[in-house]
Amino acid sequence: MNCFERTTGCGLVDEKFLNKVITLSGWVNKRRDHGNLIFIDLRDRSGIMQIVFNPVQSQNSHNIAHTLRAEYVISVTGKVVMREPATVNKELSTGKFELQVDSIVILNKSKLLPFSLEEADDVDEELRLKYRYLDLRRPSMLKKLEIRHKIIFAFRQFLDSEGFYEVETPILTKNTAEGAREFLVPSRVHKGYFYALPQSPQLYKQILMASGVEKYFQIARCFRDEDLRADRQPEFTQLDLEMSFVNEIDIQNLIERLLKYIFKEILNIDINLPLNRITYDEAFKLYGSDKPDLRFDMPIYDLTELFENTELYFLKNVIDQKGRVGAVKVSNYHFTRSELDQLTEQVKKSGSQGLLWIRINQDGELESPVSKFLPKDFVDNLRKIIPDIMFGDTIFLIAGQYKDSWSNLGRLRLGLAQKLNLIDYNQINLLWVTDFPLLEYDEKEKRWFSVMHPFTSPQPGWENKRPEDIKSRGYDIVFNGVELGGGNIRIHNSEVQEKIFEFLGFDKSEMNKQFGFLLQAQELGFPPHGGIALGVDRLVMLLLKCQSIRDVIAFPKTQSGHDPMMDAPTEVSQNKLLDYGLKIVKENK
Ligand code: ASP
Repeated sequence: MNCFERTTGCGLVDEKFLNKVITLSGWVNKRRDHGNLIFIDLRDRSGIMQIVFNPVQSQNSHNIAHTLRAEYVISVTGKVVMREPATVNKELSTGKFELQVDSIVILNKSKLLPFSLEEADDVDEELRLKYRYLDLRRPSMLKKLEIRHKIIFAFRQFLDSEGFYEVETPILTKNTAEGAREFLVPSRVHKGYFYALPQSPQLYKQILMASGVEKYFQIARCFRDEDLRADRQPEFTQLDLEMSFVNEIDIQNLIERLLKYIFKEILNIDINLPLNRITYDEAFKLYGSDKPDLRFDMPIYDLTELFENTELYFLKNVIDQKGRVGAVKVSNYHFTRSELDQLTEQVKKSGSQGLLWIRINQDGELESPVSKFLPKDFVDNLRKIIPDIMFGDTIFLIAGQYKDSWSNLGRLRLGLAQKLNLIDYNQINLLWVTDFPLLEYDEKEKRWFSVMHPFTSPQPGWENKRPEDIKSRGYDIVFNGVELGGGNIRIHNSEVQEKIFEFLGFDKSEMNKQFGFLLQAQELGFPPHGGIALGVDRLVMLLLKCQSIRDVIAFPKTQSGHDPMMDAPTEVSQNKLLDYGLKIVKENK
Protein backbone atom coordinates (compact mmCIF):
# COMPACT_ATOMS: atom_id res chain seq x y z
CA MET A 1 0.00 0.00 0.00
CA ASN A 2 1.24 3.45 -0.86
CA CYS A 3 1.90 5.31 2.39
CA PHE A 4 -0.50 8.12 1.62
CA GLU A 5 -3.33 5.87 0.55
CA ARG A 6 -5.47 6.75 3.49
CA THR A 7 -7.47 4.17 5.41
CA THR A 8 -9.95 6.87 6.37
CA GLY A 9 -10.26 10.59 7.06
CA CYS A 10 -8.73 12.08 10.21
CA GLY A 11 -12.14 13.14 11.49
CA LEU A 12 -13.71 9.77 10.70
CA VAL A 13 -11.72 7.58 13.06
CA ASP A 14 -14.13 5.75 15.38
CA GLU A 15 -14.62 2.51 17.33
CA LYS A 16 -14.39 0.32 14.29
CA PHE A 17 -10.72 1.27 13.89
CA LEU A 18 -9.84 0.58 17.53
CA ASN A 19 -6.69 -1.56 17.84
CA LYS A 20 -6.30 -1.57 14.05
CA VAL A 21 -3.29 -0.29 12.14
CA ILE A 22 -4.38 2.49 9.82
CA THR A 23 -2.87 5.21 7.65
CA LEU A 24 -3.91 8.84 7.87
CA SER A 25 -2.72 11.79 5.79
CA GLY A 26 -3.19 15.47 6.30
CA TRP A 27 -1.80 18.75 7.54
CA VAL A 28 -0.04 19.37 10.85
CA ASN A 29 -2.58 21.52 12.63
CA LYS A 30 -0.69 21.75 15.92
CA ARG A 31 2.35 20.17 17.45
CA ARG A 32 2.91 19.72 21.18
CA ASP A 33 6.39 18.55 22.05
CA HIS A 34 6.49 16.99 25.51
CA GLY A 35 10.09 15.86 25.04
CA ASN A 36 9.50 12.20 25.22
CA LEU A 37 6.10 12.19 23.58
CA ILE A 38 5.25 14.40 20.63
CA PHE A 39 1.57 15.03 19.91
CA ILE A 40 0.29 16.22 16.59
CA ASP A 41 -3.24 17.27 15.71
CA LEU A 42 -3.50 15.95 12.20
CA ARG A 43 -6.11 17.71 10.06
CA ASP A 44 -7.77 16.89 6.81
CA ARG A 45 -11.12 17.93 5.32
CA SER A 46 -13.01 15.52 7.56
CA GLY A 47 -11.62 16.78 10.87
CA ILE A 48 -8.81 16.29 13.37
CA MET A 49 -7.13 13.24 14.89
CA GLN A 50 -4.49 13.21 17.57
CA ILE A 51 -1.38 11.24 16.68
CA VAL A 52 1.42 10.39 19.10
CA PHE A 53 5.09 9.78 18.46
CA ASN A 54 6.79 7.65 21.11
CA PRO A 55 10.53 6.96 20.72
CA VAL A 56 10.07 3.53 22.30
CA GLN A 57 7.78 2.61 19.45
CA SER A 58 9.76 4.18 16.60
CA GLN A 59 12.87 6.25 17.22
CA ASN A 60 13.06 7.19 13.55
CA SER A 61 9.50 8.54 13.43
CA HIS A 62 10.07 10.39 16.69
CA ASN A 63 13.17 12.05 15.21
CA ILE A 64 11.18 13.15 12.16
CA ALA A 65 8.35 14.42 14.38
CA HIS A 66 10.79 16.84 15.98
CA THR A 67 11.18 18.57 12.63
CA LEU A 68 7.47 18.94 11.89
CA ARG A 69 5.98 22.43 11.71
CA ALA A 70 2.52 23.83 11.16
CA GLU A 71 1.00 22.94 7.77
CA TYR A 72 3.53 20.25 6.86
CA VAL A 73 1.70 17.58 4.88
CA ILE A 74 2.40 14.13 6.30
CA SER A 75 1.24 10.57 6.13
CA VAL A 76 1.38 8.35 9.21
CA THR A 77 0.72 4.70 9.90
CA GLY A 78 0.06 3.25 13.31
CA LYS A 79 -2.39 1.68 15.71
CA VAL A 80 -5.56 3.38 16.96
CA VAL A 81 -5.83 3.16 20.75
CA MET A 82 -8.06 4.68 23.44
CA ARG A 83 -6.76 7.85 25.09
CA GLU A 84 -6.29 7.93 28.86
CA PRO A 85 -9.71 8.97 30.28
CA ALA A 86 -8.28 12.24 31.63
CA THR A 87 -7.06 13.26 28.18
CA VAL A 88 -10.27 12.67 26.23
CA ASN A 89 -11.16 15.75 24.15
CA LYS A 90 -14.94 16.18 24.04
CA GLU A 91 -14.67 18.92 21.41
CA LEU A 92 -13.44 16.47 18.79
CA SER A 93 -15.47 13.67 17.23
CA THR A 94 -12.29 11.56 17.43
CA GLY A 95 -11.44 12.85 20.91
CA LYS A 96 -11.52 9.42 22.60
CA PHE A 97 -8.79 7.99 20.39
CA GLU A 98 -5.23 8.57 19.37
CA LEU A 99 -2.96 6.99 16.81
CA GLN A 100 0.41 5.62 17.93
CA VAL A 101 2.72 6.27 15.03
CA ASP A 102 4.93 3.48 13.63
CA SER A 103 6.00 5.26 10.49
CA ILE A 104 5.77 8.69 8.96
CA VAL A 105 6.45 10.21 5.57
CA ILE A 106 6.71 13.96 5.02
CA LEU A 107 4.85 14.63 1.79
CA ASN A 108 5.46 18.36 1.70
CA LYS A 109 7.04 20.90 4.00
CA SER A 110 5.72 24.35 4.76
CA LYS A 111 7.62 27.56 5.37
CA LEU A 112 6.34 29.96 7.96
CA LEU A 113 2.83 30.99 6.80
CA PRO A 114 2.12 34.61 5.90
CA PHE A 115 -0.67 34.49 8.48
CA SER A 116 -1.78 31.99 11.06
CA LEU A 117 -4.84 30.08 9.93
CA GLU A 118 -6.45 30.48 13.32
CA GLU A 119 -6.25 34.25 13.15
CA ALA A 120 -7.13 34.58 9.47
CA ASP A 121 -10.49 36.22 10.21
CA ASP A 122 -8.63 39.28 11.45
CA VAL A 123 -6.22 39.41 8.53
CA ASP A 124 -6.52 41.96 5.74
CA GLU A 125 -8.76 40.49 3.04
CA GLU A 126 -6.31 41.26 0.25
CA LEU A 127 -3.73 39.03 1.97
CA ARG A 128 -6.29 36.28 2.47
CA LEU A 129 -7.15 36.43 -1.22
CA LYS A 130 -3.48 36.41 -2.25
CA TYR A 131 -3.03 33.18 -0.32
CA ARG A 132 -6.56 31.96 -0.95
CA TYR A 133 -5.48 28.30 -0.69
CA LEU A 134 -4.39 28.90 2.90
CA ASP A 135 -7.55 30.82 3.64
CA LEU A 136 -9.74 28.09 2.17
CA ARG A 137 -7.81 25.39 4.02
CA ARG A 138 -9.48 26.59 7.22
CA PRO A 139 -12.34 24.31 8.34
CA SER A 140 -14.78 27.24 8.53
CA MET A 141 -14.09 28.13 4.88
CA LEU A 142 -14.17 24.54 3.66
CA LYS A 143 -17.54 24.23 5.36
CA LYS A 144 -18.83 27.08 3.21
CA LEU A 145 -17.64 25.38 0.04
CA GLU A 146 -19.28 22.17 1.22
CA ILE A 147 -22.62 23.86 1.82
CA ARG A 148 -22.42 25.69 -1.50
CA HIS A 149 -21.84 22.34 -3.18
CA LYS A 150 -24.81 20.84 -1.32
CA ILE A 151 -27.09 23.69 -2.37
CA ILE A 152 -26.11 23.36 -6.02
CA PHE A 153 -26.48 19.59 -5.84
CA ALA A 154 -29.95 20.03 -4.32
CA PHE A 155 -30.91 22.44 -7.14
CA ARG A 156 -29.97 19.79 -9.66
CA GLN A 157 -31.83 17.02 -7.85
CA PHE A 158 -34.98 19.09 -7.44
CA LEU A 159 -35.05 20.42 -11.00
CA ASP A 160 -34.31 17.01 -12.47
CA SER A 161 -37.28 15.65 -10.53
CA GLU A 162 -39.40 18.43 -12.06
CA GLY A 163 -38.40 17.48 -15.61
CA PHE A 164 -35.83 20.20 -16.35
CA TYR A 165 -32.89 19.73 -18.72
CA GLU A 166 -29.57 21.27 -17.74
CA VAL A 167 -28.21 22.96 -20.87
CA GLU A 168 -24.95 24.87 -21.20
CA THR A 169 -24.98 28.08 -23.21
CA PRO A 170 -22.01 29.92 -24.74
CA ILE A 171 -19.59 32.07 -22.80
CA LEU A 172 -18.38 33.79 -25.96
CA THR A 173 -21.43 35.62 -27.16
CA LYS A 174 -22.70 38.80 -28.73
CA ASN A 175 -22.40 42.35 -27.53
CA THR A 176 -25.89 43.85 -27.21
CA ALA A 177 -27.42 46.90 -25.61
CA GLU A 178 -29.30 44.65 -23.21
CA GLY A 179 -28.57 46.26 -19.88
CA ALA A 180 -25.34 46.17 -17.91
CA ARG A 181 -21.96 46.94 -19.42
CA GLU A 182 -20.31 43.81 -20.82
CA PHE A 183 -16.80 42.41 -20.84
CA LEU A 184 -15.51 42.27 -24.37
CA VAL A 185 -13.25 39.59 -25.84
CA PRO A 186 -11.36 40.52 -29.01
CA SER A 187 -11.45 38.03 -31.84
CA ARG A 188 -8.02 37.20 -33.30
CA VAL A 189 -9.45 35.56 -36.39
CA HIS A 190 -11.86 38.40 -37.13
CA LYS A 191 -9.75 41.42 -36.26
CA GLY A 192 -11.75 44.39 -35.02
CA TYR A 193 -14.61 42.14 -33.96
CA PHE A 194 -15.50 41.30 -30.38
CA TYR A 195 -17.38 38.70 -28.46
CA ALA A 196 -19.04 39.69 -25.23
CA LEU A 197 -19.18 37.61 -22.07
CA PRO A 198 -22.82 36.97 -21.16
CA GLN A 199 -24.50 39.14 -18.55
CA SER A 200 -26.86 36.21 -18.28
CA PRO A 201 -27.94 33.45 -20.66
CA GLN A 202 -31.18 35.39 -21.22
CA LEU A 203 -31.48 35.17 -24.99
CA TYR A 204 -30.09 31.66 -25.26
CA LYS A 205 -32.58 30.37 -22.74
CA GLN A 206 -35.43 32.01 -24.58
CA ILE A 207 -34.16 30.48 -27.82
CA LEU A 208 -34.10 27.11 -26.05
CA MET A 209 -37.84 27.55 -25.52
CA ALA A 210 -38.23 28.18 -29.26
CA SER A 211 -36.24 24.96 -29.65
CA GLY A 212 -38.84 22.95 -27.77
CA VAL A 213 -36.80 22.31 -24.61
CA GLU A 214 -39.78 23.46 -22.46
CA LYS A 215 -37.91 23.32 -19.14
CA TYR A 216 -34.30 24.52 -18.99
CA PHE A 217 -31.94 25.29 -16.17
CA GLN A 218 -28.27 26.06 -15.80
CA ILE A 219 -25.87 26.93 -13.01
CA ALA A 220 -24.72 29.84 -15.11
CA ARG A 221 -21.67 32.06 -14.85
CA CYS A 222 -22.60 35.66 -15.59
CA PHE A 223 -20.32 38.63 -16.20
CA ARG A 224 -21.06 42.31 -15.74
CA ASP A 225 -18.47 45.03 -16.09
CA GLU A 226 -20.06 47.33 -13.55
CA ASP A 227 -18.72 49.35 -10.68
CA LEU A 228 -18.38 46.97 -7.81
CA ARG A 229 -20.34 47.23 -4.62
CA ALA A 230 -20.10 45.25 -1.40
CA ASP A 231 -22.35 42.45 -2.62
CA ARG A 232 -21.33 42.53 -6.30
CA GLN A 233 -18.69 40.64 -8.22
CA PRO A 234 -17.74 41.06 -11.89
CA GLU A 235 -18.47 37.39 -12.36
CA PHE A 236 -21.08 35.56 -10.41
CA THR A 237 -23.28 32.50 -10.53
CA GLN A 238 -26.98 32.28 -11.16
CA LEU A 239 -29.43 29.46 -11.03
CA ASP A 240 -31.00 30.33 -14.35
CA LEU A 241 -34.21 28.71 -15.55
CA GLU A 242 -36.89 29.02 -18.17
CA MET A 243 -40.20 27.27 -18.87
CA SER A 244 -42.65 27.22 -21.75
CA PHE A 245 -46.46 27.45 -21.52
CA VAL A 246 -46.43 29.08 -18.08
CA ASN A 247 -47.61 32.22 -16.34
CA GLU A 248 -46.15 34.20 -13.44
CA ILE A 249 -47.71 32.00 -10.78
CA ASP A 250 -46.29 28.79 -12.30
CA ILE A 251 -42.75 30.15 -12.09
CA GLN A 252 -43.30 31.55 -8.61
CA ASN A 253 -44.77 28.26 -7.37
CA LEU A 254 -41.84 26.32 -8.77
CA ILE A 255 -39.34 28.62 -7.03
CA GLU A 256 -41.29 28.35 -3.78
CA ARG A 257 -41.14 24.56 -3.92
CA LEU A 258 -37.44 24.74 -4.78
CA LEU A 259 -36.67 27.05 -1.85
CA LYS A 260 -38.71 24.90 0.52
CA TYR A 261 -36.64 21.91 -0.58
CA ILE A 262 -33.34 23.79 -0.16
CA PHE A 263 -34.20 25.18 3.28
CA LYS A 264 -35.21 21.70 4.45
CA GLU A 265 -32.18 19.93 2.93
CA ILE A 266 -29.59 22.46 4.02
CA LEU A 267 -30.89 24.02 7.23
CA ASN A 268 -33.62 21.56 8.21
CA ILE A 269 -36.02 24.50 8.35
CA ASP A 270 -39.63 24.33 7.15
CA ILE A 271 -40.72 27.47 5.36
CA ASN A 272 -44.40 28.24 5.00
CA LEU A 273 -45.87 28.55 1.55
CA PRO A 274 -47.20 30.44 -0.29
CA LEU A 275 -44.80 33.31 0.29
CA ASN A 276 -46.16 36.81 0.79
CA ARG A 277 -46.60 39.01 -2.25
CA ILE A 278 -46.49 42.75 -2.53
CA THR A 279 -46.71 44.93 -5.63
CA TYR A 280 -43.83 47.17 -6.56
CA ASP A 281 -46.00 50.28 -6.05
CA GLU A 282 -47.07 49.13 -2.61
CA ALA A 283 -43.52 48.15 -1.59
CA PHE A 284 -42.20 51.52 -2.64
CA LYS A 285 -45.03 53.47 -1.05
CA LEU A 286 -44.75 51.65 2.27
CA TYR A 287 -41.05 50.90 2.49
CA GLY A 288 -39.26 53.09 -0.05
CA SER A 289 -37.67 50.10 -1.74
CA ASP A 290 -38.32 47.37 -4.29
CA LYS A 291 -36.62 44.94 -1.94
CA PRO A 292 -38.12 45.76 1.43
CA ASP A 293 -36.77 44.10 4.54
CA LEU A 294 -39.95 43.05 6.33
CA ARG A 295 -38.30 41.44 9.33
CA PHE A 296 -39.43 44.65 11.02
CA ASP A 297 -42.34 46.96 10.32
CA MET A 298 -41.76 50.76 10.37
CA PRO A 299 -43.76 51.79 7.29
CA ILE A 300 -43.48 55.17 5.60
CA TYR A 301 -46.40 57.57 6.12
CA ASP A 302 -47.34 60.20 3.59
CA LEU A 303 -47.75 63.43 5.56
CA THR A 304 -47.99 65.76 2.55
CA GLU A 305 -51.56 66.86 3.32
CA LEU A 306 -50.56 67.94 6.86
CA PHE A 307 -48.21 70.52 5.40
CA GLU A 308 -50.27 71.84 2.53
CA ASN A 309 -50.78 75.19 4.25
CA THR A 310 -47.64 75.17 6.33
CA GLU A 311 -45.67 78.26 7.28
CA LEU A 312 -42.54 76.19 6.81
CA TYR A 313 -41.25 77.66 3.64
CA PHE A 314 -39.03 74.74 2.56
CA LEU A 315 -41.84 72.19 2.93
CA LYS A 316 -44.34 74.43 1.20
CA ASN A 317 -41.90 74.86 -1.62
CA VAL A 318 -41.50 71.10 -2.09
CA ILE A 319 -45.26 70.60 -2.09
CA ASP A 320 -45.80 73.43 -4.57
CA GLN A 321 -43.40 71.62 -6.89
CA LYS A 322 -45.50 68.45 -6.64
CA GLY A 323 -43.14 66.89 -4.11
CA ARG A 324 -44.18 64.90 -1.07
CA VAL A 325 -43.45 64.79 2.63
CA GLY A 326 -42.91 61.30 4.03
CA ALA A 327 -42.12 60.12 7.52
CA VAL A 328 -41.16 57.13 9.59
CA LYS A 329 -41.97 56.73 13.25
CA VAL A 330 -39.76 55.43 16.05
CA SER A 331 -41.16 54.42 19.44
CA ASN A 332 -39.47 53.65 22.73
CA TYR A 333 -36.25 55.49 22.06
CA HIS A 334 -35.01 58.88 23.09
CA PHE A 335 -32.55 60.24 20.52
CA THR A 336 -29.76 62.44 21.82
CA ARG A 337 -28.93 65.66 20.05
CA SER A 338 -25.77 64.19 18.54
CA GLU A 339 -27.66 61.13 17.29
CA LEU A 340 -30.17 63.42 15.59
CA ASP A 341 -27.33 65.41 14.03
CA GLN A 342 -25.70 62.20 12.80
CA LEU A 343 -28.93 60.98 11.22
CA THR A 344 -29.39 64.33 9.52
CA GLU A 345 -25.86 64.14 8.10
CA GLN A 346 -26.48 60.62 6.77
CA VAL A 347 -29.69 61.66 5.08
CA LYS A 348 -28.01 64.69 3.51
CA LYS A 349 -25.24 62.48 2.17
CA SER A 350 -27.88 60.42 0.37
CA GLY A 351 -28.97 63.51 -1.50
CA SER A 352 -31.92 64.87 0.49
CA GLN A 353 -32.00 68.49 1.56
CA GLY A 354 -32.35 67.49 5.15
CA LEU A 355 -34.07 65.53 7.84
CA LEU A 356 -36.72 67.04 10.03
CA TRP A 357 -37.50 65.43 13.38
CA ILE A 358 -40.52 65.98 15.58
CA ARG A 359 -40.83 64.39 19.01
CA ILE A 360 -44.05 64.23 20.96
CA ASN A 361 -42.74 64.29 24.49
CA GLN A 362 -44.25 62.46 27.45
CA ASP A 363 -46.51 65.46 28.16
CA GLY A 364 -47.81 65.47 24.62
CA GLU A 365 -45.87 68.60 23.67
CA LEU A 366 -44.00 68.89 20.41
CA GLU A 367 -40.22 69.11 20.47
CA SER A 368 -38.58 69.93 17.18
CA PRO A 369 -36.40 72.61 15.62
CA VAL A 370 -39.60 73.78 13.88
CA SER A 371 -42.11 73.23 16.71
CA LYS A 372 -43.20 76.85 16.80
CA PHE A 373 -44.31 76.64 13.17
CA LEU A 374 -46.50 73.59 13.72
CA PRO A 375 -50.22 74.19 14.25
CA LYS A 376 -51.95 73.46 17.58
CA ASP A 377 -53.92 70.55 16.14
CA PHE A 378 -50.83 68.96 14.56
CA VAL A 379 -50.87 65.85 16.77
CA ASP A 380 -54.62 65.32 16.25
CA ASN A 381 -54.17 65.49 12.51
CA LEU A 382 -51.07 63.34 12.66
CA ARG A 383 -53.08 60.70 14.51
CA LYS A 384 -55.46 60.48 11.55
CA ILE A 385 -52.53 59.29 9.43
CA ILE A 386 -50.52 57.44 12.09
CA PRO A 387 -53.25 56.07 14.39
CA ASP A 388 -50.87 54.43 16.87
CA ILE A 389 -48.68 57.46 17.47
CA MET A 390 -47.91 57.80 21.19
CA PHE A 391 -46.33 60.23 23.60
CA GLY A 392 -42.59 59.67 23.48
CA ASP A 393 -42.55 58.81 19.77
CA THR A 394 -40.30 60.56 17.28
CA ILE A 395 -41.11 61.01 13.64
CA PHE A 396 -38.49 61.69 10.98
CA LEU A 397 -39.57 63.57 7.89
CA ILE A 398 -37.98 63.83 4.47
CA ALA A 399 -39.42 66.02 1.75
CA GLY A 400 -38.72 66.02 -1.96
CA GLN A 401 -39.77 64.45 -5.23
CA TYR A 402 -41.52 61.14 -4.57
CA LYS A 403 -38.89 58.75 -5.93
CA ASP A 404 -35.91 60.40 -4.28
CA SER A 405 -37.49 61.19 -0.93
CA TRP A 406 -39.11 57.78 -0.57
CA SER A 407 -35.87 55.99 -1.50
CA ASN A 408 -34.15 58.03 1.15
CA LEU A 409 -36.85 57.23 3.69
CA GLY A 410 -36.36 53.56 2.79
CA ARG A 411 -32.66 53.86 3.60
CA LEU A 412 -33.40 55.77 6.79
CA ARG A 413 -35.87 53.05 7.81
CA LEU A 414 -33.16 50.40 7.40
CA GLY A 415 -30.53 52.48 9.17
CA LEU A 416 -32.84 53.14 12.13
CA ALA A 417 -33.80 49.46 12.39
CA GLN A 418 -30.14 48.47 12.47
CA LYS A 419 -29.27 51.14 15.00
CA LEU A 420 -32.17 50.29 17.28
CA ASN A 421 -31.75 46.52 16.93
CA LEU A 422 -35.22 46.02 15.51
CA ILE A 423 -34.14 43.28 13.12
CA ASP A 424 -34.58 39.69 14.21
CA TYR A 425 -31.60 38.10 12.49
CA ASN A 426 -33.01 34.61 12.99
CA GLN A 427 -36.07 35.37 10.93
CA ILE A 428 -36.35 34.20 7.35
CA ASN A 429 -38.37 36.69 5.39
CA LEU A 430 -39.03 35.74 1.80
CA LEU A 431 -41.45 37.63 -0.38
CA TRP A 432 -42.38 38.28 -3.99
CA VAL A 433 -42.42 41.79 -5.37
CA THR A 434 -44.65 41.91 -8.46
CA ASP A 435 -46.13 44.28 -11.05
CA PHE A 436 -42.97 46.24 -11.75
CA PRO A 437 -43.09 49.16 -14.14
CA LEU A 438 -41.92 48.05 -17.59
CA LEU A 439 -39.90 51.18 -18.34
CA GLU A 440 -38.13 53.94 -16.50
CA TYR A 441 -37.06 57.29 -17.88
CA ASP A 442 -33.46 58.36 -17.57
CA GLU A 443 -33.30 62.11 -17.22
CA LYS A 444 -29.60 62.26 -18.10
CA GLU A 445 -29.84 60.22 -21.27
CA LYS A 446 -33.34 61.50 -22.00
CA ARG A 447 -34.69 58.12 -22.95
CA TRP A 448 -36.60 55.12 -21.68
CA PHE A 449 -34.85 52.06 -20.31
CA SER A 450 -36.26 48.63 -19.42
CA VAL A 451 -36.63 48.15 -15.69
CA MET A 452 -35.78 44.45 -16.15
CA HIS A 453 -34.66 43.74 -19.74
CA PRO A 454 -36.14 44.45 -23.18
CA PHE A 455 -37.62 40.96 -23.51
CA THR A 456 -39.95 41.39 -20.54
CA SER A 457 -43.61 41.14 -21.43
CA PRO A 458 -45.87 44.10 -20.65
CA GLN A 459 -49.14 43.40 -18.83
CA PRO A 460 -52.27 43.22 -21.01
CA GLY A 461 -53.76 46.56 -22.02
CA TRP A 462 -50.35 48.19 -22.33
CA GLU A 463 -51.03 49.44 -25.88
CA ASN A 464 -53.28 52.22 -24.59
CA LYS A 465 -51.06 53.39 -21.75
CA ARG A 466 -48.41 56.03 -21.38
CA PRO A 467 -44.94 54.43 -21.13
CA GLU A 468 -44.64 55.37 -17.45
CA ASP A 469 -47.91 53.61 -16.64
CA ILE A 470 -47.16 50.30 -18.34
CA LYS A 471 -46.63 47.48 -15.89
CA SER A 472 -44.53 44.43 -16.66
CA ARG A 473 -45.12 40.76 -16.01
CA GLY A 474 -41.96 40.77 -13.90
CA TYR A 475 -41.34 39.56 -10.36
CA ASP A 476 -38.47 39.61 -7.91
CA ILE A 477 -37.93 37.40 -4.93
CA VAL A 478 -36.56 39.16 -1.87
CA PHE A 479 -34.82 37.43 1.04
CA ASN A 480 -34.35 39.51 4.20
CA GLY A 481 -34.17 42.74 2.22
CA VAL A 482 -31.80 41.38 -0.43
CA GLU A 483 -32.89 40.81 -4.02
CA LEU A 484 -32.37 37.08 -4.36
CA GLY A 485 -33.56 36.86 -7.93
CA GLY A 486 -35.87 38.13 -10.56
CA GLY A 487 -37.56 37.13 -13.74
CA ASN A 488 -40.59 37.68 -15.88
CA ILE A 489 -42.88 36.33 -18.52
CA ARG A 490 -41.29 37.14 -21.87
CA ILE A 491 -42.53 38.62 -25.09
CA HIS A 492 -42.94 35.83 -27.62
CA ASN A 493 -44.47 37.87 -30.41
CA SER A 494 -42.31 39.90 -32.80
CA GLU A 495 -44.79 42.78 -33.12
CA VAL A 496 -44.87 43.40 -29.40
CA GLN A 497 -41.10 42.98 -29.24
CA GLU A 498 -40.58 45.56 -31.98
CA LYS A 499 -42.85 48.06 -30.21
CA ILE A 500 -40.86 47.67 -27.02
CA PHE A 501 -37.59 48.12 -28.90
CA GLU A 502 -39.08 51.31 -30.36
CA PHE A 503 -39.83 52.63 -26.86
CA LEU A 504 -36.18 51.97 -26.06
CA GLY A 505 -35.06 54.06 -29.01
CA PHE A 506 -34.02 51.34 -31.46
CA ASP A 507 -34.71 52.00 -35.10
CA LYS A 508 -35.54 49.07 -37.37
CA SER A 509 -32.03 48.56 -38.64
CA GLU A 510 -30.47 48.61 -35.16
CA MET A 511 -33.13 46.19 -33.91
CA ASN A 512 -32.40 43.81 -36.73
CA LYS A 513 -28.67 44.11 -36.34
CA GLN A 514 -28.76 43.38 -32.62
CA PHE A 515 -31.78 41.16 -32.20
CA GLY A 516 -32.79 40.06 -35.71
CA PHE A 517 -32.39 36.38 -34.77
CA LEU A 518 -34.88 36.83 -31.91
CA LEU A 519 -37.44 38.71 -33.99
CA GLN A 520 -37.14 36.01 -36.62
CA ALA A 521 -37.58 33.20 -34.11
CA GLN A 522 -40.65 35.00 -32.79
CA GLU A 523 -42.18 34.52 -36.23
CA LEU A 524 -41.33 30.83 -36.49
CA GLY A 525 -43.40 29.22 -33.74
CA PHE A 526 -42.27 30.64 -30.39
CA PRO A 527 -44.18 29.27 -27.38
CA PRO A 528 -45.20 31.61 -24.54
CA HIS A 529 -42.56 31.33 -21.90
CA GLY A 530 -41.04 32.86 -18.79
CA GLY A 531 -38.30 32.30 -16.29
CA ILE A 532 -36.21 33.56 -13.47
CA ALA A 533 -32.63 33.65 -12.22
CA LEU A 534 -31.58 33.34 -8.58
CA GLY A 535 -28.24 34.65 -7.36
CA VAL A 536 -26.43 31.56 -6.09
CA ASP A 537 -23.70 33.50 -4.31
CA ARG A 538 -26.27 35.64 -2.53
CA LEU A 539 -28.38 32.67 -1.55
CA VAL A 540 -25.40 30.82 -0.09
CA MET A 541 -24.29 34.00 1.69
CA LEU A 542 -27.73 34.50 3.23
CA LEU A 543 -28.17 30.87 4.22
CA LEU A 544 -24.76 30.87 5.89
CA LYS A 545 -25.28 34.34 7.39
CA CYS A 546 -22.00 35.57 5.88
CA GLN A 547 -21.28 39.28 5.59
CA SER A 548 -19.96 39.21 2.04
CA ILE A 549 -20.47 37.16 -1.11
CA ARG A 550 -16.69 36.96 -1.34
CA ASP A 551 -16.81 34.54 1.59
CA VAL A 552 -18.84 32.02 -0.38
CA ILE A 553 -16.97 32.22 -3.70
CA ALA A 554 -13.83 30.10 -3.94
CA PHE A 555 -11.81 32.71 -5.85
CA PRO A 556 -13.50 36.09 -5.68
CA LYS A 557 -12.16 39.38 -6.96
CA THR A 558 -11.46 42.30 -4.64
CA GLN A 559 -13.69 45.37 -4.55
CA SER A 560 -11.61 46.81 -7.38
CA GLY A 561 -12.00 43.72 -9.57
CA HIS A 562 -8.49 42.43 -8.89
CA ASP A 563 -7.48 38.81 -8.32
CA PRO A 564 -4.58 39.14 -5.86
CA MET A 565 -3.54 35.48 -6.17
CA MET A 566 -3.21 35.26 -9.96
CA ASP A 567 -2.60 39.00 -10.17
CA ALA A 568 -5.24 39.52 -12.82
CA PRO A 569 -5.94 41.55 -14.86
CA THR A 570 -2.46 41.93 -16.36
CA GLU A 571 -0.92 43.91 -19.15
CA VAL A 572 -0.51 42.15 -22.48
CA SER A 573 2.55 42.61 -24.67
CA GLN A 574 2.31 44.87 -27.69
CA ASN A 575 3.02 41.90 -29.97
CA LYS A 576 0.18 39.87 -28.58
CA LEU A 577 -2.14 42.83 -28.96
CA LEU A 578 -1.13 43.18 -32.59
CA ASP A 579 -2.30 39.57 -33.17
CA TYR A 580 -5.73 40.86 -32.29
CA GLY A 581 -5.31 44.07 -34.27
CA LEU A 582 -5.36 46.09 -31.05
CA LYS A 583 -3.29 48.98 -29.77
CA ILE A 584 -3.51 50.61 -26.34
CA VAL A 585 -4.09 54.32 -26.33
CA LYS A 586 -2.76 55.76 -23.08
CA GLU A 587 -5.11 58.17 -21.41
CA ASN A 588 -3.73 61.66 -20.91
CA LYS A 589 -4.11 62.35 -17.23
N1 ASP B 1 -31.70 37.14 -17.07
C1 ASP B 1 -32.34 37.83 -15.99
C2 ASP B 1 -31.28 38.37 -15.04
O1 ASP B 1 -30.15 37.93 -15.07
C3 ASP B 1 -33.27 36.98 -15.21
C4 ASP B 1 -34.46 36.54 -15.99
O2 ASP B 1 -35.20 37.38 -16.49
O3 ASP B 1 -34.66 35.32 -16.03
O4 ASP B 1 -31.56 39.21 -14.22
